[in-house]
Amino acid sequence: MQKLVHGIFVFQESVHKPLRGFFEQLASGQSPRALFITCCDSRVNPDLMTQAEPGDLFMLRNAGNLVPPHGAAAGGEAATIEYAVAHLGVRNIIICGHSNCGAMKGLMDPGGLNDLPAVGDWLHHAEATRRIAKQITPGLNGAQAWEAVTKANVLVQIDNLRTHPVVAAGLLAGKLFLHAWYYSFPTGVVEYFNPIHNSWRTINPDFPVAFVPPGMPCDRIPSRAGTSAGAWISEGSRPSFNGGAANTSHLHQPEPPTDRHRRKKASPNRHESK
Ligand SMILES: [Zn+2]
Repeated sequence: MQKLVHGIFVFQESVHKPLRGFFEQLASGQSPRALFITCCDSRVNPDLMTQAEPGDLFMLRNAGNLVPPHGAAAGGEAATIEYAVAHLGVRNIIICGHSNCGAMKGLMDPGGLNDLPAVGDWLHHAEATRRIAKQITPGLNGAQAWEAVTKANVLVQIDNLRTHPVVAAGLLAGKLFLHAWYYSFPTGVVEYFNPIHNSWRTINPDFPVAFVPPGMPCDRIPSRAGTSAGAWISEGSRPSFNGGAANTSHLHQPEPPTDRHRRKKASPNRHESK
């Protein structure tokens, strides 16, 4: 605990004080770049991973980065999603699973949850993932299966996300973009689901990141499209993104300016100076 307390003083002296103007400006409101839905695992740090600054990411975290379908739970998830999209005008929603996810391990091995009834109940929102896992894990070793199930779960939760009214409306209006990500903290690699190639690809700053298109149902995920299970665990041969894409409508388009985005946003000097 002492480490955390000491950290507050270090933050106040080394970070907040030099950037006081930036932090004061945050008090006027927020216009986050994305709603970032990920696991509550302590090893996943979205701000660090994306080098985001305060105000950039509106965060929703829970065990297994689950999104209960609309009406399925009276939890905070629906409220957070609704607030982000309808009130803050967030245009991008990222669901990010991660390597070595304990929730996904529990999903694969429910026997380990005997003393964790609340966790077991919560994981019912990933029942589709559990059933898909039975189809995609035969032939994979333990680590591969873990990764495959975690990635499958991200796409299942993307589908759940679509059931929320504000998300469905935003997708139909073309004002909202959904992104499926997977973060490996041992390697630092972040992959995204590429709907054009129907597989997971490493995020590369040289290529635009594709989003999951509004109309793509869960049954187009590799497990049901006849793609080998390998599509879940490795990139395979990666063709040129532009050369291999017949349909580029899923490429992430630059966001059109809005009043929200026209607003000048101060940037901490710590990033500008490096
Ligand atoms: Zn996790």
